[in-house]
Amino acid sequence: MSPLASLGGKLIQAMTSNPPTSSRTADASGSLPNPIDPALPLQIVRVEWDSHGRAAEVRVRQGDKPSLTVPAEGLHLSYRIAASGQVRCVGRPGFRADEPGYVDCDNPPQRPGRICARCSIIEAGFASSLHHAHNRSANSIDRDVASHLNRPNALYLAGFRDGSIKVGTSTLPRRDRRWAEQGAWRARQVAEAADGIIVREIEDAVTATLGLTQSVSAVRKVAGHLKPIAEEALEATLDHWTEAVHRLLSAVPDLAADVTAATGITPTDESWSFPGGDESVWHTLYAYSPPLSQASHNLIIERLCGRIALFTKPGSQDVFVADIGQLYGRVLELGDVEPNDVLVQDSLF
Ligand SMILES: [Zn+2]
Repeated sequence: MSPLASLGGKLIQAMTSNPPTSSRTADASGSLPNPIDPALPLQIVRVEWDSHGRAAEVRVRQGDKPSLTVPAEGLHLSYRIAASGQVRCVGRPGFRADEPGYVDCDNPPQRPGRICARCSIIEAGFASSLHHAHNRSANSIDRDVASHLNRPNALYLAGFRDGSIKVGTSTLPRRDRRWAEQGAWRARQVAEAADGIIVREIEDAVTATLGLTQSVSAVRKVAGHLKPIAEEALEATLDHWTEAVHRLLSAVPDLAADVTAATGITPTDESWSFPGGDESVWHTLYAYSPPLSQASHNLIIERLCGRIALFTKPGSQDVFVADIGQLYGRVLELGDVEPNDVLVQDSLF
């Protein structure tokens, strides 16, 4: 048995929520069927959250098999980055009615990047169609785009642990999942709109008028976990911007008239906080210096907030923070490795 294969069940104890049709049976030691073959390189595709924003899974792919998801918590990744530095396109969510929920892709990605030119064009085209649909006549809007747009949408503010605030939109059923995907620590739904067109107009108006960004970088999200502002301060910041958005909705005559008359937008003030954010594991965290996308690492994912991971190392209680997005598209060679020495940086001083 190869050193890699001998790691078998102990390497990754993960049950799949999306089992392959050829799931292996339990081995003689009684370990659970494992969807991940430790003898094959593993590609990290992305992090996915459940509809409540509570449980995270990591989408992975091996060889040309379909991608599948495994629970993130407890996922033990002992790996080295292949010397060849292989990166493969991560694929994309299926947007159209005739596509699967996730579309795998075998193309090499654009460099730098983790997605190929074709997937990038499809994703960007869809996003652009959503965002600019209000400039087009109803008849010229693609049917799948229209189906996404003709749903009630939430306008929200998301707060991150460093105090950053962003404005965003989501269809109502995906709202909590969207917040979890983004790694928000607190959020407010500040309005409900009848469709996805008007909500994006308001989102752009909020950015143009109030200066609120529509994205927050992973670097800021990591920094927030290492040096968080007080919870009360983050809530107060959200209070401030919620009032500002409500004033904007009521004070812009054209916007208010259009919105209330044509689409029935309703100001709301619904609070959300990251499920599990009150656990003590989030209190004392350390920066993890070596890039996850280089050399070798041995880590156990403890929690995720968006794609920002808290992880431990076997035999240690210290909890580190890093952006697991560094690994998206990377092909990992699984096995016993000599991990990099970790430069622990005390986050508290
Ligand atoms: Zn692709």
